[in-house]
This record gives sequence, C-alpha cells and structure tokens, in this order.
Amino acid sequence: MAYNTLYLKKGKDESLKRFHPWVFSGALQQIPSDLEEGSIVRVLDNDGKFIAVGHWQIGSIAVRVLSFDDEEINFDFWKRRLKVADDVRRSIGVAGRADNTTYRMVHGEGDNLPGLVIDRYGSTVVMQAHSVGMHACREEIAKAIVDVMNGEVENVYYKSETTLPFKADLNQENGFLIGGSKDNVALENGLKFHVDWLKGQKTGFFVDQRDNRSLLEHYAKGRSVLNMFCYTGGFSFYAMRGGAKLVHSVDSSAKAIDLTNANVELNFPGDERHKAYAEDAFKYLEAMGDQYDLIILDPPAFAKHKDALRNALRGYTKLNAKAFEKIKPGGILFTFSCSQAVNKDQFRMAVFTAAAQSGRSVRILHQLHQPADHPINIYHPEGEYLKGLVLYVE
Ligand code: SAH
Repeated sequence: MAYNTLYLKKGKDESLKRFHPWVFSGALQQIPSDLEEGSIVRVLDNDGKFIAVGHWQIGSIAVRVLSFDDEEINFDFWKRRLKVADDVRRSIGVAGRADNTTYRMVHGEGDNLPGLVIDRYGSTVVMQAHSVGMHACREEIAKAIVDVMNGEVENVYYKSETTLPFKADLNQENGFLIGGSKDNVALENGLKFHVDWLKGQKTGFFVDQRDNRSLLEHYAKGRSVLNMFCYTGGFSFYAMRGGAKLVHSVDSSAKAIDLTNANVELNFPGDERHKAYAEDAFKYLEAMGDQYDLIILDPPAFAKHKDALRNALRGYTKLNAKAFEKIKPGGILFTFSCSQAVNKDQFRMAVFTAAAQSGRSVRILHQLHQPADHPINIYHPEGEYLKGLVLYVE
C-alpha cells in the first residue's frame, strides 16, 4: 500500500480509539506539503502504531476515517461496505419491496462511509459526495453500487455540484456516471412522486420523513390539514390517502408548489380536496383563520452552524407560537427541526416556550426522529439531526 502516512501528536488518539471517524487538523503532526486533497492516508499514533485509514482533506476535519483496519481502499472495499448498507435496508424493511422503491442507501458516517450519501429512487440512485476523497472514488463506487444491487439499480446519477468543498475548485457538473434513465417516478409506501434529481433540493426528495408521513396518515381522517413548508408535497398526499377533509400545501418556492401539484395529481387526479399556495410561512400563518385541525411545520434548517443557534431557537419558538395560536381545539401539530446544531432538548424547549406563550394545554403524543435508513453511528452522535414532536392541542 503506497498510501501517505500521517502521525498523530502524542495523546491525540483518544477519540479515534473510541472509533470517532474524524481526525482534526490540530491532532496531526507535520503534514507533507505535497499531499493531495482527497488522497487516502494511513494515520499512525506518535509511537508508529496503526490507528486508521481515511480520506485526507483540507480544513478542520483533516481525515475522514474509512476503516480502523489496516486495509486497502479498493473496489472490493466499497462493495463490502455497500453490501452491509444494503443488508441494513433489507433488515429495516425499506428495500426489496415492490411498493417502496425510495430510501436512503448510504448515510455517510452512519454507514461508515463519511462524506458519501446515496438515495435510491427505483432503478436510479442519486449519489452525493461531500468530500474530495469520495469525489475521487466516484467511478469505482458507482460500479460497486450496480454490482451489489444485482440488477435492481441500473443508473447512477452524480449530484455533487453544491456539496463538494467550494475551495477545492473541482467544477464538477451533475450527470449520470452509469446509465441515463429519464423515468423519474418513484414509490414511497405505495404513493407515487416525481423526483427532480436534476434541479431538486438534496437528492431530489426528502426521504427522511417517510416514517413520519406514515404516522401523519393515521391522524388525517376527517381533518383539515395545513402542510407548511411542503416542498414536494410528501405530507400532503399521505394526508389525502388517510382521508383528510381538505389539504392546503404552502411553500415560498413556486417551483415547490408546482412539484406538489404534480405529485398530488399523480396520486389523486382531479381531487378537489387539495390546494397549494406559494407564500411565505409567516405571512400565511399570520393571515389564516382557525380552520385547521392538523398542522405540519417542517421548515428548512434554521441553524446550519452552532453560532446561529440562539436565533434558530427563537425562530422555532416564533413559528410554533403561530400554530398554537391558530390551531383548532383538539388539533394535532406535527412540528420538526432538521438543524443538526439544535439538539432535541433545545428544540423541545423552543416549542415549550411557544406553547406557554399561547396559554393552551398541550400534550406530547410522539417524539419523532430520523428513520432507520438514516442510521446514527454510535461513535458519531453528531449524525443525529432530525427531531419532531406530535402534539395534541386542547
Ligand atoms: N416537508 C418537506 C420538506 C421541507 S424542506 C417534505 O416532506 O419533503 C423546506 C421547504 O421550506 C423548502 O421547500 C423551502 O422552499 C421552504 N421554505 C423556506 N423558507 C420558507 C418560508 N419563509 N416560507 C415558506 N416556505 C419556506
């Protein structure tokens, strides 16, 4: 193995011995000046003992660990890792089903593949690299996916234009690495939707709300539903299948409203129960009456970094306060935060503050989180990001 070797400073191996998958730049001794970003490096402790092998990158996270075994990172390695990831999805019961062809196949650190995200939509997977190292291995990984999926996946679309480190200056364009299907209708729990992997957010659909949408379906019967921050309308069509009386979808992006309308039409053609509005959330919540008895609030991440935490918490309080103020007595509120920097206690406190401001009696019915196909590596608790509450508002 001709990998470059990096040495840790004395005493800087503790978190790695507990299998945390990142090496911070401050933990390393001198770094060879000609080391190319994205190359594979072996990390040794101060006494020359092997610790890990991973991708080298420029920044405060200097190495993302691929393995704690002294092994070669080759086609066979990717296949083994992807095979385990696939086995996890089959155990969960999201893979190998005719009525559900949508799920996350690889969730970065959660699948011991830091810097790599793969979502599956039918016979196409959308692959996203967040590190130069994963970018460098993209062709090999794409081949390994098709190999492991044994006929179930024929197309690999690479969508890393916006996720690769900007400073690396790779000028990577999105496009197919393998295949080239235009068939972009996928299935989630028997519901159909168009996936816009060319222009959509993330990999084209928010796969992480599947289980929470299913739960919502069970609450929807006979209710008047407001799906705020609807994006592609996921919660809306589950509510409709659950027997909602009416469903209003709101998003500030006109493109999202078009996607929502198209997806509702795909599942419930001509159904008059649904209407969608391109409007700002706060404006809409301010102007609306008290007609809704099931409200979903699934905003974008308010805090992308720790520094933005206080403002983010205030934002969640303000948003939820509006819903508490307006929701019908006996109403159900599904409220979420996907900010990784906000933990579940902080989020709950922000919602608690909003409830107290409204003076209403509020019960927590469910505490929600990311689904099992977005697993959290127990040694990398930072991987937990999605949290939600289902509340009964008296
Ligand atoms: N609930 C969605 C995902 C929501 S993503 C799902 O299940 O797929 C967040 C969405 O919020 C994006 O579509 C974005 O366009 C929208 N958004 C961002 N700021 C907004 C605002 N101020 N008012 C309304 N929508 C907003």
